[in-house]
Amino acid sequence: MSEATASILQQTFGYAQFRGAQQAIVDHVTGGGDALVLMPTGGGKSLCYQIPAIARQRAGQGVAIVVSPLIALMHDQVGALHEAGVDAAFLNSTLDWAATQNLERRLARADITLLYAAPERLTTPRFLELLDGLAARGQLSMFAIDEAHCVSQWGHDFRPEYRALTVLHERYAGVPRIALTATADALTRADIVERLQLEDARQFVSSFDRPNIRYAIVEKKEAVTQLLRFIEGEHAGDAGVVYCQSRKRVEEVAQTLQNAGIRALPYHAGLDASVRQLHQDRFLREEGIVMVATIAFGMGIDKPDVRFVAHLDMPKNIEGYYQETGRAGRDGEPADAWMAYGLQDVVNQRRMIDESPAGEEFKQVMRGKLDALLALAEATDCRRVRLLKYFGEDYQRRPAAGLAQGGPAPSGRSEPREAGSVGVTCGNCDNCLSPPDVWDGTDAARKLLSTIYRVQQMSGISFGTGHVMDILRGKVTDKVRQFGHEQVSTFGIGAELSEAQLRGVLRQLVAIGAVAVDAAAFNTLKLTDGSRAILKGEQAVQLRESVSAPASRKTRQKTRSDRVPPAAAQLDAEGQARFAALKAWRAEVAREHNLPAYVIFHDATLAAIAARAPQTQEDLQGISGMGASKMDKYGEEVLRVCAGA
Ligand code: ADP
Ligand code: ZN
Repeated sequence: MSEATASILQQTFGYAQFRGAQQAIVDHVTGGGDALVLMPTGGGKSLCYQIPAIARQRAGQGVAIVVSPLIALMHDQVGALHEAGVDAAFLNSTLDWAATQNLERRLARADITLLYAAPERLTTPRFLELLDGLAARGQLSMFAIDEAHCVSQWGHDFRPEYRALTVLHERYAGVPRIALTATADALTRADIVERLQLEDARQFVSSFDRPNIRYAIVEKKEAVTQLLRFIEGEHAGDAGVVYCQSRKRVEEVAQTLQNAGIRALPYHAGLDASVRQLHQDRFLREEGIVMVATIAFGMGIDKPDVRFVAHLDMPKNIEGYYQETGRAGRDGEPADAWMAYGLQDVVNQRRMIDESPAGEEFKQVMRGKLDALLALAEATDCRRVRLLKYFGEDYQRRPAAGLAQGGPAPSGRSEPREAGSVGVTCGNCDNCLSPPDVWDGTDAARKLLSTIYRVQQMSGISFGTGHVMDILRGKVTDKVRQFGHEQVSTFGIGAELSEAQLRGVLRQLVAIGAVAVDAAAFNTLKLTDGSRAILKGEQAVQLRESVSAPASRKTRQKTRSDRVPPAAAQLDAEGQARFAALKAWRAEVAREHNLPAYVIFHDATLAAIAARAPQTQEDLQGISGMGASKMDKYGEEVLRVCAGA
């Protein structure tokens, strides 16, 4: 069995080796086993069901059905299989009557290797009848359930249609099923197993690490300006995604980026479906487009060369953050996950939960998830370690050389130290590359909390951030005078603290739940149950130094230049010329076939071809991504293009 699947990998897809758990999964499913596959985005999930489908079809076991939630993407997925010479099709509402008829006839003859269908289509009586026919003849080879987390309400893409997929198990008990997802917190995983009745399936849990993605979370000041600086400084001309919370903000940010000469497009649910489609197509088919979008954009986008994902607003939880950032760098080349985060994000997310119509139990779960994300944002140690821990994974410890352990000094600033109090560093996140200064904010926090308490006591109402900070810093404003707050005993006792520091203290107190911001009352500040321990001095508060504070201006954030450059950047001048010619040729082919360029060949494949300066078909053998079908179809042309460059 192994031999057959390895030869499909090489012949059909042009890859030399399986990655990670792929081989084990492929063999298990080809052999008729059920599987639940948890693998990060870009890990290579598609081959885990495509190769078994091909192997089983060849063994006379008939058609594989692939459940996929996004009809918009089926076209490209099927197109990619056609390019590799695999007989695949999709069935969805975009097909006209005649095409549907034709497809159904082929299906009845089991004359297809993989059929992609949306869950709502799959569970119609008409379709089930077709499947019944296939099953009766032993021609239903397997089911693949992609994006399986859609079945869980704990996931971020809950789709009720997925619940109906239990019918597959009940009706076709003997047909193997493989469910795949890149979302893997324990709750969601348990839910997938239960909802899809996969109790007996073998679970394949891969490491969720995405080593090529660099994580950075910056303090939000002028978010859009910060974003512009980030894109212009590190990603000029690259394809990327910018996530924003609201439609309005999407429009504004897209406009600002366009004004700065960046090829940005907006995407949100308020746009006409045709506009959305057009923008998505351009993002997939053209190079260097920046999509500014709400989270409505992205699921199943398998564009491999997205070089950055930026969040201008904080997502709801780590699952969402990880899924969204995971869309960067599927091709394994260096990529960035960048987020700007501030007090308002905390306030907004808390309020959205409070105001949602959901039940209290659900809200509690959501609050817990939000808190985990806040802790990540405030963290002073390795982001990757925390992210992976959230998914139940211990990041593989690497000995960190020259660790300056010594905790923070009793008061005031501590010495800069290596990120990660236990000494684990990934070397590819902001905190590892440029460890933030940590200071003991316990004293500042107590001053802030007691000011909030005292003004409330004195005036019988609560006040907002600006006013509380003015009192603490001893500023006599009109409002201070009006309420007689110079009399508060904490007036001026925080004069040595900068406004940036105090804002940082406050944000982190809100993040850990020691201060509540009352959105229903002009964002005024209130103490919570969590305030007490800090006020009493029972709980220390370790804070990251505000990035704007002078003390932290030491190691400049490392930039792209430190990284291993992508394959294409390593070519000599002639190689570059071939690469450029190949890209131009690929763009033409892609347009003719109405497919994204990467479906024809990845950049990395073109770069490998360019590096070889091939003269003959033999020279093209063994290039990753050059399967037999592509060799037949494009080998000659590739040689001609290289010769002419
Ligand atoms: P996922 O669905 O897990 O996000 P994909 O199936 O889209 O990931 O695979 C990500 C990329 O990696 C694709 O471009 C795919 O062609 C490539 N890939 C997958 N498996 C291999 C392999 N064994 N060798 C080389 N490239 C691979
Ligand atoms: Zn790190």
